[in-house]
Amino acid sequence: MCGAGLLFTIKQEFLPRTSRITLRPLMKLKKLVKEAAETSRPFRITKGEDFRLKDHDPADTGGLEDKDKAIKTLKRGVELLSHLQEKLYAQDRWALLMIFQAMDAAGKDGAIKHVMSGINPQGCSVTAFKAPSQEELDHEFLWRAHKAIPERGKLGLFNRSYYEEVLVVRVHKELLEAQRLPKELIGKDIWEKRYEDINNFEEYLTRNGVVILERLEMPDKNWKFSMADVKEREHWKDYQKAYEEMIQNTATKHAPWYVIPADNKWFTRLAVASAAIEALDSLDLQFPEVDKEKKKELAKVREALLHNKE
Ligand code: ATP
Ligand code: MG
Repeated sequence: MCGAGLLFTIKQEFLPRTSRITLRPLMKLKKLVKEAAETSRPFRITKGEDFRLKDHDPADTGGLEDKDKAIKTLKRGVELLSHLQEKLYAQDRWALLMIFQAMDAAGKDGAIKHVMSGINPQGCSVTAFKAPSQEELDHEFLWRAHKAIPERGKLGLFNRSYYEEVLVVRVHKELLEAQRLPKELIGKDIWEKRYEDINNFEEYLTRNGVVILERLEMPDKNWKFSMADVKEREHWKDYQKAYEEMIQNTATKHAPWYVIPADNKWFTRLAVASAAIEALDSLDLQFPEVDKEKKKELAKVREALLHNKE
């Protein structure tokens, strides 16, 4: 009994709320999209050259002060996101990939769950990238990510990603050794080459209809205490350097980074949802048109069904 009840609640949470959103006046939706763009844009990085972590304040809330108002906006934002995702699914042309990287273990999962909360699970996938398996180590580094790229019409979320290949693998050299690359291919420029491979891969995806958003969550004020792995704290400086260089080398117009402050969860989530809304809105998604023939066919089916009922 208990199990069934639980399942029902989860299902309810996931039900798309399209009907509600389509009833909203168009003007209000436009305003919401505009607001979303204004919220997320200041954190977007399309050219990384001058990127410095120290220039970014984890306590920033983009000028928003009213937490309750922001939470209400987020609620409407998640509804709008679910509406856009339905269109993405129905149109079946584009895919959206959202990559979540964070500087500590806390926060990422919560943000992913939140973005997912209004969304139809049928059109969405989440992939977590952990330490690679033996089979994964036997392939080139983009192999496992490539297999998980969302298909047309779908929204894909990566919890960590191939960016670990220029972060943890860079900080812990023994991880690179475990990849058993031929020695002559491991030069000093290996990280630059990896940035280049990642950029090329992302350009390739973009050219094939996969829209990419990369998001880095900055450490919050409690990071020292919340960082899951105590040993990793010793490598903090190395990680900072790796993060900085990664963004400097991989922030592009077609796959921008959003460096999002994490002190205030309500703002972090609002900024994430806003970035997704802006990206989907820019695609000008449309529900596919039903042509005359199809309409006739549907009318016939309807007739037949009504007839059968009588
Ligand atoms: P949790 O909060 O549950 O710990 P998590 O995302 O940290 O979630 P883990 O099970 O700890 O999940 O697995 C992630 C670990 O895998 C991280 O330490 C990460 O650095 C490591 N990892 C991910 N990709 C790679 C990679 N390509 N090579 C080596 N290690 C990797
Ligand atoms: Mg962990």
